[in-house]
Amino acid sequence: MTPTIDADRLWQSIMDIAAIGPTPEGGSCRLALTPEDTAARALFLQWCQKLGLRHEQDAIGNMFLRRAGADAGASAVAFGSHLDTVPTGGRFDGIAGVLVGLEVLRALHDAGVTTKAPLELVNWMNEEGSRFRPAMMGSRVAAGEFPLAQALAITDDNGVSVAQALADSGQAGPLNPAPRDWSAWLELHIEQGPVMEATGADIGIVTGTMHARYFQLVVTGEPSHVGPTEMNRRHDSLAAAAEVILAVERIGLGAEPGGRASASWIENIPNARGNVPHITRLHCDVRHNDADVAVAMEAQLRQAMTEIAARRGVRIDVDPYATFGPITFDTGLGTLLRNKAQGRQLSTRDMIAAAGHDSVLMAPLVPSAMLFVPSVAGITHNPKEYSTKEQIARGAEVLLDAVLELAGV
Ligand SMILES: [Zn+2]
Repeated sequence: MTPTIDADRLWQSIMDIAAIGPTPEGGSCRLALTPEDTAARALFLQWCQKLGLRHEQDAIGNMFLRRAGADAGASAVAFGSHLDTVPTGGRFDGIAGVLVGLEVLRALHDAGVTTKAPLELVNWMNEEGSRFRPAMMGSRVAAGEFPLAQALAITDDNGVSVAQALADSGQAGPLNPAPRDWSAWLELHIEQGPVMEATGADIGIVTGTMHARYFQLVVTGEPSHVGPTEMNRRHDSLAAAAEVILAVERIGLGAEPGGRASASWIENIPNARGNVPHITRLHCDVRHNDADVAVAMEAQLRQAMTEIAARRGVRIDVDPYATFGPITFDTGLGTLLRNKAQGRQLSTRDMIAAAGHDSVLMAPLVPSAMLFVPSVAGITHNPKEYSTKEQIARGAEVLLDAVLELAGV
């Protein structure tokens, strides 16, 4: 029997996961290791167990679901993505990649097909980094890019550590996080941008990623009373941060079309009526297709901060806490995905990923590639995020074909 993707079953599974942590606007909120994320993991695991997959989990909460191959000694063909979301999450970012992987395994199961090489489906822990930074935490630790002990000690905005959250949710597995015995890593993801829809491409072949540089900025001014303190005696950290935010935006606008710059998180102290703010923290990032330009964007940002700090009599400390990319994905796997898409009469387009993905961490370790399916109107990290049942099913078919060729039958 030929394994066949069941578009309705795949869609229903995506909707079933979306119903966990629903938001009023129709999206999902499942921050890493919250009860909602834990419930989604449990449902996913239940589905996997129906297929007889072997479940392994590591100490940072990454889930590995293994389907045995005829050749037990062969390296596995691995694929997956993440089930966690941002606070204003949609139903597809990450989830599509995990559940398309599940659908591939369901199709093989129904058809009674055993591949030569084993297969592994993965749900990475805390890809989004909304609750615990940095993002791509599970894959980062598994790749050896970030020490486990350091990750476990990271706390969320309420002071709860990753270790505590793993213990409370029962998601700390017995395995030591480490690179696994894989021959290839594939990740399907929604595009999260408008290019495929605009150009009518069915499948995006992701050839690489932008280079991104993340910073925490701490602006330190002086506490004072908003009444008696004359305007020219103030060292207002929030007003200085506002100028930094506008500088970030200006740098991003100046770096288009290949560049982006964002200030996306702010904390203001004491954040009290009646007080001139004296400590403001920001998280920012700059990114570009060309790593040298991203470095130049950082230099522009630092220069702007120096000028703002001097003029306003505040201090601005910069903690560059993470970077990713630029990654070039495996060209052989890219060709394979392109050929498999064309074999299904699907149009393809080569693309660069602007967002971080777990595949960025896998690429240095194992031949890796990503494929995109279109996002309606390019909306993402938003309850309106949408890809159609057919768009996702087409991606699943390409993944199925690629997995069959890589694993052998
Ligand atoms: Zn994602």
